[in-house]
Amino acid sequence: MRGVVTTIRKMLISILVLALTFAGATYVAFMGAMTPYFPASEQPEPVLLFTIGVHIEPFNGEGRTRADYNQVEFFNRHVEDLRILANIVEKYGGKLTVQAQTPFTLIAIRSDQTLFSELEAQGHEIALHFHEDAHLGANSESLSVQAWADAMSQ
Ligand SMILES: [Zn+2]
Repeated sequence: MRGVVTTIRKMLISILVLALTFAGATYVAFMGAMTPYFPASEQPEPVLLFTIGVHIEPFNGEGRTRADYNQVEFFNRHVEDLRILANIVEKYGGKLTVQAQTPFTLIAIRSDQTLFSELEAQGHEIALHFHEDAHLGANSESLSVQAWADAMSQ
């Protein structure tokens, strides 16, 4: 029993470390388990429930790193990293929530990249990820609702 929990814990840590080392992408992991009360003599096999949400950050050549998805190798590296992460999670019956935004999404469309349709076909969720500073500038709070809506619809 304890060995199973340790193995699951190691697997979870491995997945999280992979997500953390995801160059250019950050992760958000929400872990939780519903643990109803059972007397010690009736303890069922433990079930670990968790989800992994992966942010695709808005790298556009600005900022401290100057990282830019317009650089083909950089973009392709992130595409392959997402495929690798999805494959690992799938091995354990899991699903990702991949939170995407421009410029990654625009470059994916322009380059006929099939990553998102592949992930969706495998049951992963594709969601919007939005950084107001990257898409609206430093004074985003002063912009209209329409400006926000326009930026989010890119
Ligand atoms: Zn983010």
